[in-house]
Amino acid sequence: MSKRRRPSVEDYAVGWICALPIELAAATEMLDETYDSFENGGSSRYNLGRISEHNVVLACLPKGQMGTNSAATVAAELKSSFPSIRFGVLVGIGGGVPSADADIRLGDVVVSLPGKMHGGVIQYDFGKFTANGVERTGFLNAPPTLLLEAIARVQASHIRGQDTRLREYISHFNRVPAFSSANLGRDVLFDANYRHIGGPTCEKCSKERIVERGLRNNDVVIHYGLIASGNLVIKDGVERERVASELEGVLCFEMEAAGMMNTFPCLVIRGICDYADSHKNKEWQPYAAAMAAAYTKDLLSVIPPTAVAQARTTIENLREKQVIEETLNRLPYAVEAAFNSYQRQHERTCLVGTRVHVLEEINNWSKKKDNRSIFWLNGWAGTGKSTIAGTIARQYYDKQYLGASFFFSRGGGDIGHAGKFVTTIARQLASNILPLQQFVYEAVALYSAIGTQSLSDQWRHLILNPLSKMGSGSGSPSYLLVIDALDECDDDKDIQVILSLLTEAQPAFNNILRVLITSRPNLPIEVGFSRIPPATHCAFILHHLPLEAVNHDIVSFLQHELKTIAQDQALEPAWPGAEAIERLATRASGLFIWCATACRFIQEGDFYAEERLNSLLKGSTSSTVPEEHLNEIYMSVLRAAILPTYTEQEKGKLYDHLRHVLGTIVILYSPLPLESMCKLIQVPKQRATKILVRLHAILDVSDNFTGPLRLHHPSFRDFLIDNQRCRDPDFFVDKHRVHHRLAESCVKLMSSTLKQDICGVNAPGTLADDVDKTQKQQCLLSEIQYACLYWVQHLQDSNVLLKDGDAIHQFLIYHVLHWLETLSWMRRLSEGIRALLSLESLALVSSL
Ligand SMILES: [Zn+2]
Repeated sequence: MSKRRRPSVEDYAVGWICALPIELAAATEMLDETYDSFENGGSSRYNLGRISEHNVVLACLPKGQMGTNSAATVAAELKSSFPSIRFGVLVGIGGGVPSADADIRLGDVVVSLPGKMHGGVIQYDFGKFTANGVERTGFLNAPPTLLLEAIARVQASHIRGQDTRLREYISHFNRVPAFSSANLGRDVLFDANYRHIGGPTCEKCSKERIVERGLRNNDVVIHYGLIASGNLVIKDGVERERVASELEGVLCFEMEAAGMMNTFPCLVIRGICDYADSHKNKEWQPYAAAMAAAYTKDLLSVIPPTAVAQARTTIENLREKQVIEETLNRLPYAVEAAFNSYQRQHERTCLVGTRVHVLEEINNWSKKKDNRSIFWLNGWAGTGKSTIAGTIARQYYDKQYLGASFFFSRGGGDIGHAGKFVTTIARQLASNILPLQQFVYEAVALYSAIGTQSLSDQWRHLILNPLSKMGSGSGSPSYLLVIDALDECDDDKDIQVILSLLTEAQPAFNNILRVLITSRPNLPIEVGFSRIPPATHCAFILHHLPLEAVNHDIVSFLQHELKTIAQDQALEPAWPGAEAIERLATRASGLFIWCATACRFIQEGDFYAEERLNSLLKGSTSSTVPEEHLNEIYMSVLRAAILPTYTEQEKGKLYDHLRHVLGTIVILYSPLPLESMCKLIQVPKQRATKILVRLHAILDVSDNFTGPLRLHHPSFRDFLIDNQRCRDPDFFVDKHRVHHRLAESCVKLMSSTLKQDICGVNAPGTLADDVDKTQKQQCLLSEIQYACLYWVQHLQDSNVLLKDGDAIHQFLIYHVLHWLETLSWMRRLSEGIRALLSLESLALVSSL
């Protein structure tokens, strides 16, 4: 027989990764031949050898460094030392999860096999806090096809009773004392609720609590399915059962796979050494490691070397991943849409023990396999819909079942309209549901202009078709799409289009996707829902909940908030007492926004917290309309902003400023930081700050006036611009007048700043991308960008007629090209074209 040539670095195509020295020892036992390591490079820390026709690199995690991060580092180093590696196997021990479906015994082997909704491995501590903040890996990749084909072949021959090769490899270990099965203790499984008594073995543990299991003929059984991976060791039966009940069908726990599945195509093979409970000990570890290694050798030996050579290297895979990501990133994206976007980071979730009923309803619906794929949470303004939506989104995100989320907000720029709705959702779905990614990517690659197409075309190509290619998701929980505050989308027609697209999509959803929509009961949405078949959705009306149930939650909320205020203001711990809280709760009449505003109002009162509380308690209780109570508290907040020490004349001036500044904030189409807003409307910043500083109760200025100014709740806008609700003419804001004033301010600002080559690049034909970002930011200040984007919209909403020779006319004569150039620097030219068209129709109307 000819002697084999010693392989070079490029000849190694298979990486075998272990976490423990005992696992590495078992792996080394399975080599048909060992090779010396290379002198140069970082390869000396690897064991090299051959299994059947494959050259294999064995790597082990540094001693004592278990866990996903350590595994990720080892995998990365392995790939860079051996650039021709095609795939990996992660082989070692794990904690079994015996269940009615899977009779898992010690020494059995569990192999990760992808299902419809998972890639074979799922991270169970996903979304938990670690030293580096919340970790997020999303869906973990499935093993490469090559390995899945090999599994099928091995499985088939085992079914036919042809497992002689596996037996031969196992018997090899009987000759190595360290791995022998001769001295193993009994394999006992205790009741999950029964905790270990103590000591190194289960000698003292009650025999009564042993779960009775029948005798089994086979000594080793191979199980295929889901493996749960995470950084926490599970050593408690109850915890094991809890996690297992959340991750349907999980067979085993381990601690490394989640760190490498997405960067290293690999298969996880685990020998079961304990049951992840308090009775676990290390006795079975060597034997379990040996079983996993024997199976791995069996598997590798059925893979033809030619197939390995043809497979892509991990580097090629990575490159492809980059191409996919870059292509998907071409889709327009509303960064503030996701429930956990940076701008929403201070939003709270429901207090524990509150909103229990409604959260349960939503959870039950999403788990049930009924055909109603849409859940409509309908409620008046301020009843807590967004907090509920945020809570649900957080829960599903933590369990990795959040498909996408879009939180609409009027006046919020990209999240105030539906223009980027579908593309944003498509991008989120592609990153959260990995089997979908390829299909969405193909659609974006095929339809390069998809971002500018109609909502329904985008929906069909980016969501419907990819979903239908995924097949049916039966047997697993569905992913959830959360659409919050649909009524805040600024175009009623778009709202109806969205609703009809969602219903039309029902068959394609195939139980893969479910949709939670929250909205107020306003007309376009009710009409929209009335047009869709009742069998497709269920509705929950938040303001129909019995008042007692809501009051219970409101009292909890008030207790929680007032306790914090009492601490901050050094009041008595029991302040303000149960009776005051009860009375406040009654005044809230079911509106959480009333409570939140009241608490902020009291908090802001600082020295006068007590007085403010009393003034709220004194308010009228005559009205039974919740909105009336809200009007009243908003009015109290506004009145408290004007100090009583001013003269009437001074007050008059102050009201004018307040209406101007506050009116601008509620009418802007996209929030601006204070400084930019002041420059736009030409108000000194100091003066605006003085006015707003007393309005914390309604205005989010948590970042000390540096970030964009936002309302705490949209209901304040509705209040301020409705003279039936805001009946005091000192405060009421006439929205048409504000739009007109803003349109004028925008045109004025643009007329004085826009010019040819505004970014000063001095080289025609330069691409927007090639210009330095800071240079662009310096030349295109927020207020200028705002003016360019929204002046036409303000003009439209001001109901003002255009006249020849007016400021707009002058602006168009001198600056229309500068304006379009600026928009193209902002990469928003298409919005300019749309604006020009609507301007044309305005001019037509005015000329009639
Ligand atoms: Zn025990």
